[in-house]
Amino acid sequence: MELLEQRILKDGVVKAGNVLKVDSFLNHCMDVKLFQEMGKEFARLYEGAGINKILTIESSGIGIACITAMVFDVPVVYAKKTITLNIDGEVYGAKVHSFTHQADYTVIVSQKFLGPEDRVLIIDDFLANGCALEGLSDIVRQSGAELIGAGIAIEKGFQEGGRLLREKGLRIESLAIIDSMNSETGEIEFRHE
Ligand code: 5GP
Repeated sequence: MELLEQRILKDGVVKAGNVLKVDSFLNHCMDVKLFQEMGKEFARLYEGAGINKILTIESSGIGIACITAMVFDVPVVYAKKTITLNIDGEVYGAKVHSFTHQADYTVIVSQKFLGPEDRVLIIDDFLANGCALEGLSDIVRQSGAELIGAGIAIEKGFQEGGRLLREKGLRIESLAIIDSMNSETGEIEFRHE
C-alpha cells in the first residue's frame, strides 16, 4: 500500500535489533485517517469473505483493529495480556512470546465473545516471527470459529513468521512488506510481489 510505504519512509526509524519504530503515526501517536485507508484496503482484500468479527491483541493492534472494524461494520475483540498463567474454563488462552519485550505472556479471550458462529479476521500492527499471530490463531481454533485470514500493517519479510504461517495455509495480507532495513543508514526496502 503506497500510502503506508511512503509514511514508513518519511517517519519510520530503524532501530538496532531489527526493530522499526513507528510510534509517531502507528502505535503511540495514531494517525486515524491513515488507519481508515488501511481499513478500506483490508476490506477490499477480504471483500466477500463474510467476516463478522475482528480479533487483535493488546495493545498496539487495537487502534488499527477498531478503525478497520468500523469499515467492516463488525465488532472487534482484543486478546488481553495477563500476568497469571492460570486459565479457568471461561476463557480461551494462548502463550505468546513478545518480540519487542523479549518475554513470554499469556493472552486470553472470554468465551462469551468468540464462538463457532464467527468468521474471523485477525488484525495486527506488525508481523515479525509470527508468535502473536500464532497465538491468536490458536485462540480462534479453540473457539471453533473459522479463521478467514490476517491483515497486517507492516510485515518484516526478512523474519520468518510470514513464510511459516503461510506455509501452514493461513491467508495473510500485509499492507507493507519490508525486505530489508538498516539501522546504520536508515535505509528501508520494500517487497513488491
Ligand atoms: P511477532 O509475534 O510476529 O514476532 O511480533 C509481532 C508483535 O511484536 C507485534 O504485535 C508488534 O507489537 C511487535 N513488533 C514486532 N516487530 C516490531 C517492530 O519492528 N516494531 C514495533 N514497533 N513492534 C514490533
